[in-house]
Amino acid sequence: MRTELFINNEWRTAGSGRSIDVVNPATEEVVAAVPASDQAELDQAVAAARAALSGPWAAMSPRDRGRLVWAIGQRLLDKADEVARLETLHNGKPITESRQIDIPAAAACFQYYAGWADKIHGETVPVDANYLAYTLREPVGVVAAIVPWNFPLLLASWKVAPALACGNTVILKPASQTPLTAIALAEIASEVGLPPGVLNVLTGSGTTLGRMIVAHPGIDKIAFTGDTSTGREIMRGSADTLKRITLELGGKSPNIVLADADLDAAVRGATTGIFYGKGEVCAAGSRLLIDRSIRDEFLDKVAARAKKMLPGDPMDPKTRTGAIASKTQLQRDLKYIETAKSEGATLLAGGVRADIGTGKGYFLQPTVFAGVTPSMTIAREEIFGPVLAAIEFADLDEAIARANDSSYGLAAAVWTKDVKKAHQVARRLQAGTVWVNTYNVYDTAVPFGGYKQSGFGREMSMHALEHYTQIKSVWIDLT
Ligand code: NDP
Repeated sequence: MRTELFINNEWRTAGSGRSIDVVNPATEEVVAAVPASDQAELDQAVAAARAALSGPWAAMSPRDRGRLVWAIGQRLLDKADEVARLETLHNGKPITESRQIDIPAAAACFQYYAGWADKIHGETVPVDANYLAYTLREPVGVVAAIVPWNFPLLLASWKVAPALACGNTVILKPASQTPLTAIALAEIASEVGLPPGVLNVLTGSGTTLGRMIVAHPGIDKIAFTGDTSTGREIMRGSADTLKRITLELGGKSPNIVLADADLDAAVRGATTGIFYGKGEVCAAGSRLLIDRSIRDEFLDKVAARAKKMLPGDPMDPKTRTGAIASKTQLQRDLKYIETAKSEGATLLAGGVRADIGTGKGYFLQPTVFAGVTPSMTIAREEIFGPVLAAIEFADLDEAIARANDSSYGLAAAVWTKDVKKAHQVARRLQAGTVWVNTYNVYDTAVPFGGYKQSGFGREMSMHALEHYTQIKSVWIDLT
């Protein structure tokens, strides 16, 4: 396992000599230490990334650039076992998820954008006959990708892959808790022959290195996923240098079950909607909106399912519920559980720390609260843990009103057998993604991003290309 910084295709340590411990949340053991980068390392990375904008990378044909981006995806697949193990080691997610979902999806993201590299082009524009006008679609320059700890490699890929396909250079800053797979990505970039300076990986804390990135005049764009409050700070901080920014922030996504739904499928959707990824998913279906007429029967089934989802050793291929990613996050989850109880919600399942037999690790029993009212804290704030808040509604209008009663708007779902109702509800929900009779489905070809305070800009799909290119208009006098 490599643990150094990657700048200009060289492995470096931090001049400060300071480091950040990486903890396995399933065992509470320190498994690695990575450098705490400072201004000096950032300046070097920015200089390398800027220089690379006019080096062999810029001279390369788009098709060859695409081949390199494709090769990163292929190499990720070749090394999937190794990279998946690192993802589970620092995040605590089940190895089956890392191996079957996160790493293949990250590889697919690189290979999807590889295909775009030679299809990104300008246009000729019909203007006055005395002129020829055309546009060039050019890279924005040096892109900083700042990513969180819940899907460390996948969320990095959503930014790095389109950035590279469009010809930009990148500085990737992983979350302090989960830097290992970003470093593995750097290793892969050097193995496939990405030119020096094109991808640089700097580890360091958000409040030091992150803020320095936001302020740095040599960086043109920031692509960020994380907390809404951090997003606000990045937006304020990048104003002085007028950086382009895209923000993918928090959510409090409603999962609406209408009385005519296939209830067994909806029970599965309600539980996987919140408990997949331990609830540490920005689009998690953390608000279950349930028709009053089916409430008791439905919630009994949801609670029974939650009780069966026992956490286990994340490295065991049979485990389906892993460890909460950090002690801080576990404490945050437990605090919200206490708040819910004190505000009068009814605990139906979980609510306590779990022990997988080792006496160690940050495990939490999947938790279900019923009787939640829209004003309660757990109905309004993003917990980012396996805690479901069930809220009832009397009719469709109330369901929609409650679903939209949030400052967030990342995702939403509706369960119904009525196809007309499904489309009507999809139109009325204020969310960047709406699922019908399913939850947590993603594809690199489909855009993902927020309405309202869940952020702006779209990741994945051809729409992300807009954020990694800028348009130059060229006028030629023909007279
Ligand atoms: P943050 O937003 O703090 O962290 C995300 C990334 O931003 C990390 O790389 C972090 O570095 C960095 N960062 C932190 N502060 C700054 C800053 N001022 N300037 C620039 N970069 C910064 O999220 P947390 O990891 O602290 O998680 C807190 C909460 O955020 C979660 O409980 C959850 O509610 C929400 N969240 C939402 C996510 C989503 O996908 N929408 C993902 C992760 C979290 P470092 O790791 O060193 O702090």
